[in-house]
Amino acid sequence: MSTSSPLLPRRAGEKVPQADEGGRRYWLACAIFAIALAGWLCLGRLPDLAQGETPTIVDRNGVVLYEPLSLRGDRSEAIRADALPERVVQATIAVEDRRFFSHAALDGRAVLRAAWHDVTRRRMAEGGSTITQQVAKLLLGRKERGVFDKLHEGIVAVHLEMGYSKSEILALYLNLAPYGNQTTGVARASRLYFGCAPEELTIAQAAFLASLPQRPSALNPLRNEERAIARQRRVLALMHEQHVITEREYAAALNERLRFERGERRVGAQHFIEHVLECRTGTPACPGTRRRIETTLDASLQREVAGIIAAQKRDLLDHGAHSVAVAVIDNHTGEWLAWEGSGDYFGTDFGGAIDGVTALRQPGSALKPFTYALAFERGDSPATVLADVPSHFQTAEKGVVYTPRNYDGRYRGPLRVRAALAGSENVPAVAMAAKLGPASLLRFLTRAGFRDFEKNADYYGVGLTLGDAEVKLEQLVAAYSVFARGGVYVEPTMFRRQPATGNRQRVMSQRTAFWITDILSDPDAREYVFGRGGNLDFPFAVAVKTGTSQAYRDNWTVGYTRDVTVGVWVGNFDRKELRNSTGVTGAGPIFHAVMLSAAKRAHGGRLPIGDDAPIVDPPDGIERAPICALSGLRPSTSCPNVTSEWVASDAPVRFCSWHHDGYVDWPPEYRAWAQRSVDVSSAQPAKSGRDVRSPLQILSPPNGATYLIDPTLRMAYQTLKLRASSPRVTWHIDQQQVATAEWPLQAGWHTVTAIDDAGRRESVQIVVK
Ligand SMILES: [Zn+2]
Repeated sequence: MSTSSPLLPRRAGEKVPQADEGGRRYWLACAIFAIALAGWLCLGRLPDLAQGETPTIVDRNGVVLYEPLSLRGDRSEAIRADALPERVVQATIAVEDRRFFSHAALDGRAVLRAAWHDVTRRRMAEGGSTITQQVAKLLLGRKERGVFDKLHEGIVAVHLEMGYSKSEILALYLNLAPYGNQTTGVARASRLYFGCAPEELTIAQAAFLASLPQRPSALNPLRNEERAIARQRRVLALMHEQHVITEREYAAALNERLRFERGERRVGAQHFIEHVLECRTGTPACPGTRRRIETTLDASLQREVAGIIAAQKRDLLDHGAHSVAVAVIDNHTGEWLAWEGSGDYFGTDFGGAIDGVTALRQPGSALKPFTYALAFERGDSPATVLADVPSHFQTAEKGVVYTPRNYDGRYRGPLRVRAALAGSENVPAVAMAAKLGPASLLRFLTRAGFRDFEKNADYYGVGLTLGDAEVKLEQLVAAYSVFARGGVYVEPTMFRRQPATGNRQRVMSQRTAFWITDILSDPDAREYVFGRGGNLDFPFAVAVKTGTSQAYRDNWTVGYTRDVTVGVWVGNFDRKELRNSTGVTGAGPIFHAVMLSAAKRAHGGRLPIGDDAPIVDPPDGIERAPICALSGLRPSTSCPNVTSEWVASDAPVRFCSWHHDGYVDWPPEYRAWAQRSVDVSSAQPAKSGRDVRSPLQILSPPNGATYLIDPTLRMAYQTLKLRASSPRVTWHIDQQQVATAEWPLQAGWHTVTAIDDAGRRESVQIVVK
């Protein structure tokens, strides 16, 4: 017989019969025991409590953006087992595990009660897990919880109870538990929500904090204060029931009104931090696993950006926009100063954790400056005239032609590059892209930093200049900073004091960068489309461009001064369309406010008002010369309108051949347009007197235009210039005659009427918000 215990070895010399039933049972038992022992030893091994891998992340001035807590409590922020904050401990035990000090690793009664409540579907304050089990769970860091995980947790919990005192386990819990808003540990939570150390918390505050770890995001007081308070009252009631606090303390705590810090002192920048942590292990350019990572972010600017987005939130929602991304770069160094990915990292409804700075989206018109920059590199200038006439362009698909349209559906005939770019007209941009060829344009864009194009030039075709290819906001901002730098690309960085990578590359000539900048910072040039006094105008030089993708899915404003480049994207991550939102109304107000903050920061806290220095210095070899306003050529004596433009000093001088005494000899591509267009009369000298019959036209404001009053600017800046095709008109706003042709903006719907000497009248409708 072999009935001896499987735990005892057989007596020496005892032979095991080969097919002996009992022998097999013996070995089976031995195997089970060995596996259980191995499991106990391996699974029960506690994770490293030092956890020294994650570094502290600071901003450019040493402000802590992210700090991992050491589990041993050797950092000032962590709770130590010999100095547990009493109120927090009382509240935590009351709500999480009332028999913590008396039970072993598992609390049989709590498990049964939790099972009972699961059955009866009543949700209770207490779960089935003891604090020790929860520490085990937090240490193992698992989200999925299968049977094996529960078993593993149980084993670790028993090991914890055997190896640590109750106070040490409690300290581990308080340091590891999640308290919402990306905050781990009660010490930091205490500073975040109430701005004080955990020992200084009142009973009411401690009860609030103790309620958080179970459902940290649902109970977020910065999001839903009512729900969070209801939960805090439940914890207070439990403390009272369990006689942890007296009747008087209970009453006082109920009466105490909790004041949350509302995150003002919080930097945010979660998307940026994530990027830094990701990058740490990825590319060689990132500093290794140092204990402290110095980043380029400016925490105070970042905070201002968050405030600006919060202030615009309602207006954005009115336009059906749920996400905002903002990026600010230092032009001199290529360092990121602010980086906001969605405007609401913790919002789960609209993908708040997605980083809009690195998301691929259609840029709309925001790439047009690069089309013209390549044209300048090839010999064109701001005076080059392009045909804004109905045109067709061959696409890569055989037999399919593309007919671009301008935003307002109008064609303006000959348009100088300055006006075409500043007014963001589509037809001339496509004509230019067709002339340059999509392949060379794509190569140029890639050199400027757009490196994520998925398709080839044939696929995009001339639509490339209208934003058919997707780009990232970070690329857009980096590429625009090339203009500000006079044509030099600098690889953007998130890390301070990185060894100079030497990654500075000339992408275009200084002359090209100067011309593009001069046009984008010219409010007169864009006025015929964008009006005056809106979000694109500043009391100092800012080069700016807007973009709106097809069907209003994406809305962009990007711009720069000498020192900073700011980019703003507004949209929805699910690509839902925006309502009545263009670059001027959606991203524009946020851009305006962020640019004011960033410019102020760059000038030591003061706005550079009245600073007339150009953003990019005019290079040698260009001069301001008179040109014919229509043909862009040097004026002849017959040219009726002469303006001036920056031209290359060594460019061959060609005089206007369009204007002749009394008529315009239109180049062939404009003839059909000129015959149909009412604008011809205004382009022709009024010598013969025959043009009296041409209709009067209001050139500014355009019909149906929307203007925005900017509360951050003085009203003196916020006027609308009134212009008509005839210089001698009287102006009426809503039937009231106005004295000058510069009208101070007033909110509301308005009818602008021009009446000339001959009694002809013309009206347009505008709205001012
Ligand atoms: Zn001329």
